Amino acid sequence: MARVTDNPITDAFPESIDIHPGLDASPVLPTELPSVLNRLTEQPRKRRTVAYINVPYCETRCLYCLFYIKPYRTKEESAAYADTLIKEMQLWADKPVQNKEPVHAVYFGGGTPTALEASDIRRVLEAVRKYLPLANDCEITYEGRLSGFGDDKMEAAIEGGANRFSLGVQTFDTKVRQAVGRRSSKEELIQRLTRLMSYSQAAVVIDLIYGFPYQTLETWLEDLQISKDLGLDGVDCYQLRVFERSPLHKYIANGKLPAGPDHAMRARMFREAVFQMREAGWSRLSISHWASNTRERNFYNYYAKTRTDCLAYGPGAGGVIDGFSYMQHRAPDAWIKSVEEGVKPIAMMMRPSKNWELGRAVAEQMELNYFNPSALAKEFSPQLSKAFEPITENWTEAGLLLPFSERYELTVAGQFWQGRMTQHILNHIKNTNL
Ligand code: SF4
Repeated sequence: MARVTDNPITDAFPESIDIHPGLDASPVLPTELPSVLNRLTEQPRKRRTVAYINVPYCETRCLYCLFYIKPYRTKEESAAYADTLIKEMQLWADKPVQNKEPVHAVYFGGGTPTALEASDIRRVLEAVRKYLPLANDCEITYEGRLSGFGDDKMEAAIEGGANRFSLGVQTFDTKVRQAVGRRSSKEELIQRLTRLMSYSQAAVVIDLIYGFPYQTLETWLEDLQISKDLGLDGVDCYQLRVFERSPLHKYIANGKLPAGPDHAMRARMFREAVFQMREAGWSRLSISHWASNTRERNFYNYYAKTRTDCLAYGPGAGGVIDGFSYMQHRAPDAWIKSVEEGVKPIAMMMRPSKNWELGRAVAEQMELNYFNPSALAKEFSPQLSKAFEPITENWTEAGLLLPFSERYELTVAGQFWQGRMTQHILNHIKNTNL
């Protein structure tokens, strides 16, 4: 239950912990995997589909990052990665699961996809267009960092068909950036972003993060202001999670870096983002994402949280087919070996829980800033309306939800706690055996 207080954005729940909303799933045993996979791949997909392609390399490690897998060293490594990725896409090229129904969004993430050589960026994008049945309006996002993203790589990505770039800026403040292992200065970032936008071939969006050491309300407001002034197509604003296993956690514990803004200040920073972007007339596409115009659609990030299928490629990539989630081998060597042997490099697979569809429907609503038990009851089970009443009553009293006809909008405080609230609903579904 949420606490009923005068200041719900800071006090509704105990201070934020790391939340990844989800329902329990059970593993597919290794002995069952071939037959389950055979069944899933021999039938066309039935849902909207995204594809996720993981590029595991980074030139340097950011102190807060847990995604970092492998330092990028040589051009040969880039070429070997591209060769293997193309072979991996060929593995299911004649399977209905890959070649039958349209793919609506493709996302190159990582790691740092912009670390690849220009010629390899072009090759992997061409392979996507060749081996995946892309919808005519397919969003193709190429993610990365601006450090080392030269004109040659930008042009290769554009020629390859990327129509959206998602760049990890995190903050424009040079001191804050460099303290946590990012390289470029504010001036370099602005110059590179301006150059990328000058091609006018793709939506350009950036990530901003609040919660870094040395970050203040002033630097955060300046980040928001620069983003608005640059004429970007979209901005994501995330709160930093300092994971115990991250180097940043050790640096702060050892006194090498100060802790970032406290909980109350992070709440203030989130609220400022909501107010500033609203005032500037940007559209809210999800809890954390804003668009300045209709070129930015945010398809992948939205679909990936809903009842979609996700075809995964590359080491460490995760996918979903008909509710079965799978994870590919994380180590690049294991991934390469498996692909070379002609075997899809799946390391583990999980069966969906019985309420997978319901859980995804809840996550979709909450991602879009609302909760509608009546709609869930109509689609899944009439008892759901009543089952959620204690939650909606408490959250309304606590200032996290605002009743609006049959649905509830999340207040700004509710938006700040959205991850926690989503997990609470999913736990309730599990514990009441709905
Ligand atoms: S560039 Fe991204 S993936 Fe690489 S270390 Fe930094 S945050 Fe992690």
